[in-house]
Amino acid sequence: MYYNENTIVYLNGEFVKAADAKMDLYSQSLHYGYSVFEGIRSYKTVNNETKIFKALEHFERLKNSADAMNMPYHWTTKELIDATYEVLKRNSLQDAYIRPVIYAPANMSFVKNKKSFIVIEVWQMQPFLGDKLLRVMTSSFQRPNPKGFKIQAKAAGHYVNSILASQEAKKEGFDEALLLDMNDYVAEGPGANVFFEKDGKLFTPSLGNILPGITRATVLEICSEMQIPVEEKQFTIDELKNADAAFFCGTAAEVIGWESLDDTKFPKPWNETVGRIIQEAYMHKVIDKAYKKESKREFERA
Ligand code: PMP
Repeated sequence: MYYNENTIVYLNGEFVKAADAKMDLYSQSLHYGYSVFEGIRSYKTVNNETKIFKALEHFERLKNSADAMNMPYHWTTKELIDATYEVLKRNSLQDAYIRPVIYAPANMSFVKNKKSFIVIEVWQMQPFLGDKLLRVMTSSFQRPNPKGFKIQAKAAGHYVNSILASQEAKKEGFDEALLLDMNDYVAEGPGANVFFEKDGKLFTPSLGNILPGITRATVLEICSEMQIPVEEKQFTIDELKNADAAFFCGTAAEVIGWESLDDTKFPKPWNETVGRIIQEAYMHKVIDKAYKKESKREFERA
């Protein structure tokens, strides 16, 4: 489902068939989860063009992740963006999910490598968490402690934590997990950042113990355009349960509202929330479609 016999990937400077592409089974990345990656989306814009949303931000984060992990990185952002557009073209994809991965050579020791490798894969992907309001569960897993991991980096190994939390939530009959940080403040989802709404104002966890999401930054940008009050701060699960509404946001998930957290249902109908306005603005922004910056005020009058 991710690829077929015709799919092309970018592999270390060449465009090759995914089915023929090889990597070293002795790679330090496979054995120790030591690789970094990005999750990016491209969209078909209103002008029928293919646009990688926030391409610069994603490829800069990829480089920063590699630097944080001491992985050699010799690519320029421009060459990787150009290569990604070419992979999209060769796979005839406009609306796509894009996954660049920087990985390590064969190395069973913990010694720093002299080189890294890259693959860029693209495939069609629906919103990662679906399009229905989510029933979210507070995870028994905490996010990795920033004193143990470079939490601001998108490193493969961190995602073992995400997989454990997400699988636990699904096993308990929920749609997705919400993880706290090592101080019991709300952190983020396994693959998305979180916002909540209280009395018309939005709140989101401050940076420090979370992945600095590019969608989170886009939501803050939309809030500033629409003059929606928003605050970054640390908050507890009790404060979140007392909210009017909440949503996850991330490149793969886009903006998706919550129905409930554990056994607490959010009282405000999603269609009447600030989150819904943000969701609509976001879906316009990614395809370069104009949206009314004054929607917030219209919403208040309604
Ligand atoms: N937190 C985590 C743990 C993630 O994996 C992601 C997805 N990259 C996000 C937040 C959202 O980040 P972004 O908006 O940059 O996709």
